[in-house]
Amino acid sequence: MQWVTTSPQETQTIGGLIAGLARKGDVLTLSGDLGMGKTTFARGFIRALAPDAGAVTSPTFALMNVYEAHLADGTTCPLWHVDLYRLESPDDLRNIGLEDAWDRAIVLIEWADIANSILPDKRLSIEIKATEAMDTREIIASGSMDWMDRLED
Ligand code: ADP
Ligand code: MG
Repeated sequence: MQWVTTSPQETQTIGGLIAGLARKGDVLTLSGDLGMGKTTFARGFIRALAPDAGAVTSPTFALMNVYEAHLADGTTCPLWHVDLYRLESPDDLRNIGLEDAWDRAIVLIEWADIANSILPDKRLSIEIKATEAMDTREIIASGSMDWMDRLED
């Protein structure tokens, strides 16, 4: 599944659309070069599930920010926004407790490559690429069958 957006606002809208399909236990990775819009996408995703979250900032220094997601079925679960850009070694992952979050939260990860060995297979990968046109991005979603089914409905 893929989309082309022509503004940060539109990228947030796509983030919100995918958030509408998210369930407790979902893991999503965001990849793409610096400045491609991973955090912008995450902002739209988070605002859709946690409307009273306030400012959604990049967790580059904090490593992660946690919000409370309000799901369509009326339940809530933690929503983790993680950025592993500054992580130096996969060993440091233990301090974050990511693995404890897989089942009980929705986890959105920027710069997830360093965590590859512990990432669950069942996940949605979002890749954001530049195009030749200014302020235009290509957003490509790929992942487990379960996610592809959800995106197609
Ligand atoms: P990343 O988290 O990938 O490093 P950010 O989301 O922090 O990227 O920054 C993306 C930058 O690109 C922002 O300054 C944003 O305004 C700009 N931008 C321009 N066009 C787009 C677009 N179509 N989608 C997302 N961001 C865009
Ligand atoms: Mg970012």
